[in-house]
Amino acid sequence: MKTTIYTHESGLTHDTGEAHPERADRLRVIYDLLDTPPFDTLPRVKPPPAEMDHLLLAHIPDYIETVENMIPPMGVVDWGGEVMLSPGTWESALRAVGAGCLAVDDIFQNKTTRAFCAVRPPGHHALPDRAMGFCLFNNIFIAARHAQISYGVKKIAIIDFDVHHGNGTDHMTRSHDGSILFISTHQYPLWPMSGHPDDNEDSVQNWILPPESGSEIFRKLYETHVFPAVKDYAPDLIMISAGFDAHQDDPLGGLNLTADDFEWVTRHLCTLANLTAQGRILSMLEGGYDLNALRESVSAHLRALISSG
Ligand SMILES: [Zn+2]
Repeated sequence: MKTTIYTHESGLTHDTGEAHPERADRLRVIYDLLDTPPFDTLPRVKPPPAEMDHLLLAHIPDYIETVENMIPPMGVVDWGGEVMLSPGTWESALRAVGAGCLAVDDIFQNKTTRAFCAVRPPGHHALPDRAMGFCLFNNIFIAARHAQISYGVKKIAIIDFDVHHGNGTDHMTRSHDGSILFISTHQYPLWPMSGHPDDNEDSVQNWILPPESGSEIFRKLYETHVFPAVKDYAPDLIMISAGFDAHQDDPLGGLNLTADDFEWVTRHLCTLANLTAQGRILSMLEGGYDLNALRESVSAHLRALISSG
């Protein structure tokens, strides 16, 4: 099955200042990886900036306007301690959203089956009216709504294996009409301290992993809860919030996973996509802050995406 990479070099211009974990080097190591076999033969597409209508699928107008007005003409602005803004941030953020939307277009116009969006800033913590946790716009939720509105996709499953709870996507899915299934697995307790299974409902399922869980507990959780739920739901499209900060070397997470675990979970999601979604998978980069671990994990994730036909 054809896998396409969606990325734009403007992602390198979102400057977060000194010693910030969510930094341009993250994208640089992915670009280095993409220049090596077997990934150097994958088509690479540059997404256009998202339109205002796309942003409005997840965010209120006041918030979008505030973000644009906050962008400094030079230097780096610390916006609330978690989100940094620089002159390149606006274009970078718009093209991150644009990547997901173009990937949806290409998937449903049969130009590709699988998509990996190598973008920053990440998106899964972004709320309708607030930036949070390095995230400005909710790239994956916007892409899901675009798939529903433009292509009439009935059932979309979003799986989030970032070490942190995808609270923004959780919130948006919960407030929506039940036509999206969101499943997040994350370390708990850990920032943002939300996403407890006590609050689960049909369309939002959170599953928690204690610190230092490791491969066995992670895989058991997916085999027990996540894969059966996705299979029962029978999605027409599987989307992945692919954060790699659950890796054992990550400075922000503590779940002790390895790149093999990311390959394993991706292969299983590909198998599920092959059953009901004609193989369609859209994966969106979220976290992952140790550069070597990120490179190794993205490599594992892509290997599974391109080989699980
Ligand atoms: Zn994370």
